[in-house]
Amino acid sequence: MILQDLAKSLQNCQRCKLATLGRTQVVFGVGNPHASIMFVGEAPGFNEDQKGEPFVGAAGKLLNDLLASANLSRDQIYIANVIKCRPPNNRDPEPDEVETCKPFLMQQIQLIKPKLVCTLGNWATQTLLDRKVGITKVKAQAFYMKDFVIFPLLHPAAALHQGNLLDTLKEDFKKLKEFLDRHSQPAPAAPVLNIEPPQPAQMDLFS
Ligand code: SF4
Repeated sequence: MILQDLAKSLQNCQRCKLATLGRTQVVFGVGNPHASIMFVGEAPGFNEDQKGEPFVGAAGKLLNDLLASANLSRDQIYIANVIKCRPPNNRDPEPDEVETCKPFLMQQIQLIKPKLVCTLGNWATQTLLDRKVGITKVKAQAFYMKDFVIFPLLHPAAALHQGNLLDTLKEDFKKLKEFLDRHSQPAPAAPVLNIEPPQPAQMDLFS
């Protein structure tokens, strides 16, 4: 299966009650299907539900700025949510909704094969770490899983609601950049050429 097939198979998903609670559309995910870095948020909000893309409102704009601070751009990464349909009035996803939708996130991860998954906020972090941990305890640290590393971060929307978290989030993206710098392949050095002047016989070939 390729990523587009999975997206298509969810277009009219009715597997959980969010299908009947006022969603406009399923918000599958967006970005580079071969990305080595994935960002995973909680669930679509109003703007995401309208546009069909994760992180397009004010939180999305802040995320773009934070990505730029870590030398990342949207076309290098893939962004998805744990829950693909907007919960009414942006309420927290309910356990049965997470349970039903999580397998599709795991399939996305299996198809994209990222090396690093940055979880944004408590929900995504707890869902992927598969344990009840507070985001403030685990944020900006690397957790080595079987197939990828999880790097939890605060959700950008939290920094929009509580301005004092913005500096923390910026600091944490600095730590993400340091992690990426430590683990990125150095650019190949320019080839060292050692070319002897042509012998007369070689020059004849071009005469
Ligand atoms: S939230 Fe997930 S499981 Fe529920 S209807 Fe949407 S796509 Fe299907």
